[in-house]
Amino acid sequence: MSPMFDARTALLLLAFGDFCAAVVLLVHGVGERGRGTRLFLLGRVAQAVGWLSMGLRGVDAGMAAILPANALLYGGFALESAGLLRFFGHLGPWSRRFLSLVVCGVVIAQALVFDWPHLRQSLGGLALALCLARPGFLLALTPGGSVLRRFMGMAYLACAGALLANAATFLLVRTTGDVYTQGIDQTIAGLLLYLVMLVGSVGFVLLNKERADAELRRAATVDGLTQALNRVTFLARAGELTAMAARTGAPLSLLMLDLDHFKVVNDTYGHAVGDEVLRDFSARVRSRLRPYDLFGRYGGEEFCVLLPATGAQAAVGVAERIRTSMPREPFRNLPAYTVSIGVATLGEHSTLDDLLRESDLAMYQAKAQGRDRVRLQHARESEE
Ligand code: GH3
Ligand code: MG
Ligand code: MG
Repeated sequence: MSPMFDARTALLLLAFGDFCAAVVLLVHGVGERGRGTRLFLLGRVAQAVGWLSMGLRGVDAGMAAILPANALLYGGFALESAGLLRFFGHLGPWSRRFLSLVVCGVVIAQALVFDWPHLRQSLGGLALALCLARPGFLLALTPGGSVLRRFMGMAYLACAGALLANAATFLLVRTTGDVYTQGIDQTIAGLLLYLVMLVGSVGFVLLNKERADAELRRAATVDGLTQALNRVTFLARAGELTAMAARTGAPLSLLMLDLDHFKVVNDTYGHAVGDEVLRDFSARVRSRLRPYDLFGRYGGEEFCVLLPATGAQAAVGVAERIRTSMPREPFRNLPAYTVSIGVATLGEHSTLDDLLRESDLAMYQAKAQGRDRVRLQHARESEE
């Protein structure tokens, strides 16, 4: 929207870009439910129609032509904003109310000041800025966000800022509402709208990809039922830590945990309750561990905990804490259950395989002695 090129062409290009973005999202697949893609896509379609009608209409168009198109445009931005908020799980009832209020409030206010076009333009800029600001902050400022998120967030915030500046000039400086007369604020706002049109659509697809990649990585390393590390990942990470500890002489211990009479739980209450018990067990164990301890599902109802920098006595202490945290009474439709734990600690020259074997032996001793107990196996004990 500089004097170099025609404002109408710019509006039509925005419409074309939004339309293309909507088609790409549609072809890409509307995404999983609850991820906001549908809202984002609808938003882009509404914006495309809004920009198109703005680009095609005459300078002296009446209220009946202008306000519905404006409502569509602002509604499109509100839907885009809602789509992004939903993607991040932030689309609560207050966000919906706020966005609806912005769109309805601005269009009604525009009807009231219809004869003062510069006020109409000012209100329009305000509506778009309010829609873009929240996802902008969310994308740019959420701790731990990727570079992609920050870049998208900066684009949305920059555009919201430029639109506010544009709204302010229409309110304070200009006396006409003619968007076709140029001004530096107008040019910057136009370019940043174009940027959001591009970065928003490419970014939204990439955000989905980023999340899908993270989920795939997680699914490859974590057991879906219990959220403990899966066997392969646990053994790989535990192997590295054990080799490192064996080399440096740092203490390290391994717990082998096996739920007692779990078959009875399944047979009595059904598999679904059995699964629920496994989930509950996993949550209880995790809450008793330090962030750098490893917790993995070794087999069906057998789990392992690797405790770096932990000698035998401390490991027995951790095992006892875990054992005594099991529910002694039925609760939340789940039966009481217990666990037997074998503890092995790193001796000279021992490997992860030694620790697994020793802790397994200790666990079977605990079973043999009546279950619901902790047994410690010393490296030397098992070699004798
Ligand atoms: P013990 O006290 O000697 O350990 O007896 P137990 O019944 O726990 O031992 P056993 O190894 O014979 O039984 C393990 C049971 O765990 C059998 C299997 O059906 C069940 N199981 C394994 N994985 C799952 C699972 O993912 N979900 C459910 N519900 N049950 C599972
Ligand atoms: Mg068992
Ligand atoms: Mg078992």
